[in-house]
Amino acid sequence: MSEDLNSRVAALQAQWSTSPAKMLIGGQWRESQSGETFTTENPATGKILSQVAAAGEADINDAVAAARKAFESGPWPKMKPDQRAKLLLDLADLIEKNGDELALIETLDVGRPIQFSRMIDVAGSVGQLRYNAGWATKLTGETHEVSAPGEWLSYVLREPIGVCAQIVPWNFPLVMAVGKLAPALAAGCTVVLKPAEQTPLSTLRLGQLIQEAGIPDGVVNIVTGLGRTAGAALASHMDIDKVAFTGSTQTGRAIIDASKTNFKRVQLELGGKSPTFIFADADLSKAIPAAAMGIFFNAGQVCAAGSRLFVAEEVADQVLEGVAGMAKMLKVGNTLNTDTVIGPLVSNIQLERVTGYVQSGQSEGAEVLVGGKRKEGDEYAGGYYVEPTVLVETKASMKVRKEEIFGPVLCAARFSADEDVEQLAAYGNETEFGLAASIYTNDITKAHKLARRLKAGSVRINGSPGVDPALPLGGYKASGWGRENGKSGIEAYTELKSVTVGLG
Ligand code: NAD
Repeated sequence: MSEDLNSRVAALQAQWSTSPAKMLIGGQWRESQSGETFTTENPATGKILSQVAAAGEADINDAVAAARKAFESGPWPKMKPDQRAKLLLDLADLIEKNGDELALIETLDVGRPIQFSRMIDVAGSVGQLRYNAGWATKLTGETHEVSAPGEWLSYVLREPIGVCAQIVPWNFPLVMAVGKLAPALAAGCTVVLKPAEQTPLSTLRLGQLIQEAGIPDGVVNIVTGLGRTAGAALASHMDIDKVAFTGSTQTGRAIIDASKTNFKRVQLELGGKSPTFIFADADLSKAIPAAAMGIFFNAGQVCAAGSRLFVAEEVADQVLEGVAGMAKMLKVGNTLNTDTVIGPLVSNIQLERVTGYVQSGQSEGAEVLVGGKRKEGDEYAGGYYVEPTVLVETKASMKVRKEEIFGPVLCAARFSADEDVEQLAAYGNETEFGLAASIYTNDITKAHKLARRLKAGSVRINGSPGVDPALPLGGYKASGWGRENGKSGIEAYTELKSVTVGLG
């Protein structure tokens, strides 16, 4: 670690240790009314980074009231679209300018190796804002001819939904917060945003930048708190018009139930158990590293992680050996070192969950080809590191093949040359999830046929460009409701209103 990085880490830690981090409500930075706090820690060391205000119902009510005021009587929805776009572009510039600091905060709070925090969290956030700023001036309604007798003018207005709650998980806090905020703000909505309790710090810094960009008070409110209290209060709140949630399928169900209070709109990005198919004719020099990074990147804490591998019998030994070789070779370690590729899991709970799944797989008959244990050694002391793991001989009936592990655990199985596209699609579709899928083959007909038959929101053939703000993102089945990103992503923050005028 360089001296400069050392001193920047020390400066952040000094700042966090002095007083509890505050929430942003109606343009004011506030402690919770109850005075309660929770702690956030560095998963690479297990050491506490900061106390953070824990929002209760009274704080949530204040945040929603501030967002309502900014929506009904504040300037935001009435502001000209090009002015809203300009503010989003200014925020993008500020995030870029403060990118090193934001990346460092993300690395310390999430445990993501520093090389990825800058590349993914910062660049991804800037991209989301610039993309969605463009939409602010391009949202349109429609006109229609109606069939009723007489002369009519009929048109459809596209209006902002109103006050939106946005609830974000811990794996990509900054880019997910910005990815939710950008379309909502571009559409003219106001927001109460809740980061996950494990990783609130980058979102709070984002709040300062939102103020610096000149986005009016109350348009974005940031509440920090626990899911079962602050999150639940948001989801059931009577004055919220929409809740957009990314997180586990289990919490997604709770959000649906809570939203029934006032029939708020619900958008859900949930879990996944995404398959990767490698055919015998694939370019293995690309497919092997892609399959390995598809599950080991971010220690497998990626909703679209390629957690099930189906590999053609003819090349299975070579592929599995290659992926296992990468599992051993990828640098796991200090998240502040620029050559570290794999960091820790986010928490001890997650560590126990992941190692528990490996044991469950073994007890059901899967074999550990590589990894499977907590990382031992001084370098990992106190941190929640787990070895990149490959399980072979997995069966569809096993828990490890059905449930989302959210860790660096690949569940592999072989298929034979006589299994056709229908059979392979059935393997792909065997779980309750349907988020993503990857296919590696040089046979384009087979690739496109399989892509059509897979129940997955994103299908990647021979590589992935990563999440792009232009491409719809979301899942089939228990992986969610609706799509973020792209045109559908911004339209999801609007309501349609049909207006008819009798012209005599
Ligand atoms: P989680 O569901 O426990 O928490 C996510 C967020 O919801 C947090 O902010 C939490 O405080 C809040 N929350 C928890 N209980 C709540 C409740 N009852 N009411 C309202 N809010 C509540 O999920 P997690 O463990 O933080 O994240 C991991 C999960 O997120 C994985 O299952 C993963 O697949 C999923 N995920 C999905 C996507 C996607 O785009 N589909 C992206 C990232 C993560």
